[in-house]
Amino acid sequence: MVESKGESNLSFVLAKRLDVKFEERPKPTIDSPYDVLVAINYTGICGSDVHYWQHGGIGSFIVQEPMVLGHESAGTIVAVGSKVSRVQPGDRVALEPGYPCRRCPACLSGHYNLCPEMRFAATPPIDGTLTGFYTAPEDFCYKLPAHVSLQEGALIEPLAVAVHIVKQAEIKPGQTVVVMGAGPVGLLCCAVARAYGASVVVSSDIQEARVQFATSFAATHGFIPARASGEENAARLLKEVGLGEEGADAVIDASGAEPSIQTSLHVVRRGGVYVQGGMGKADITFPIMALCIKEVTAKGSFRYGSGDYKLAVDLVSSGKVDVKKLITGTVRFEEAAQAFEAVKAGKGIKVLIAGPNEK
Ligand SMILES: [Zn+2]
Ligand SMILES: [Zn+2]
Repeated sequence: MVESKGESNLSFVLAKRLDVKFEERPKPTIDSPYDVLVAINYTGICGSDVHYWQHGGIGSFIVQEPMVLGHESAGTIVAVGSKVSRVQPGDRVALEPGYPCRRCPACLSGHYNLCPEMRFAATPPIDGTLTGFYTAPEDFCYKLPAHVSLQEGALIEPLAVAVHIVKQAEIKPGQTVVVMGAGPVGLLCCAVARAYGASVVVSSDIQEARVQFATSFAATHGFIPARASGEENAARLLKEVGLGEEGADAVIDASGAEPSIQTSLHVVRRGGVYVQGGMGKADITFPIMALCIKEVTAKGSFRYGSGDYKLAVDLVSSGKVDVKKLITGTVRFEEAAQAFEAVKAGKGIKVLIAGPNEK
């Protein structure tokens, strides 16, 4: 055992829609010899956490029992099971928060993010990581190098989402990429695309301030769509960034917004790749004729899979992606509700909540 700073297992619980509370829950125990106990140091707030709080569910995932929120965490290992060999007490780790069955066809094919038995933090009925202590399998804990902070460690989760999206987009050196939406995942997609060697990365968002930030962070160009058709916005975007008639090699939607998706299919070049990373309305009007006649490869992207967390840690460790720039601030655990309010109001980019033992 390594002494943690405190023993509180205070948890931030969504009791039901619009109703959050703090609850001192029993400290979890290590049940599998391959599990470790992690003291949570920092957790980022995700759009999905805010959505559960506001709406009580996402699609078919409905909050029926009180559920601890949060899944973007970094922590310190305080105890390990008898068969654990890769990590030890005292290690600072980024915590991958979803645990697949490891047995089904999806898992065995290497696509564990598609496992139907996935137990994912803060996806009902599984409790999340806005708590004092959390158990995880050792192979889902990724050691942070000494020069990477635990605050940066909490950003590995959204960065892994971006890594997976950019892998789906098959971006190659010298290519041109358009990223729709400049929220945390969109911004990180821009940075990962640059790290993969894209020469032109366009960030598009209806909020001018976000686009300005994107160009200071990782995008080579910014674009602010007007109230116009997808075709009109696409034509102006391509003209403004000098892609003329050609179109972009890859377009990533990290917004989930119908107008952005419509524009995307007119921005992508003939034979290009389109990736849906953002989640919005379940059904939209989609320009399927453009998809057909341009022979566009369209793909979805869901969470992250084999190698994505490791690559995310490497991108931060090597300095290729500076996630520190996305951290708006850190609040005390007791201020979690106010932090959620701030995120809902669209203030800042990524707000971190310190663990309850982090004083
Ligand atoms: Zn998230
Ligand atoms: Zn599985």
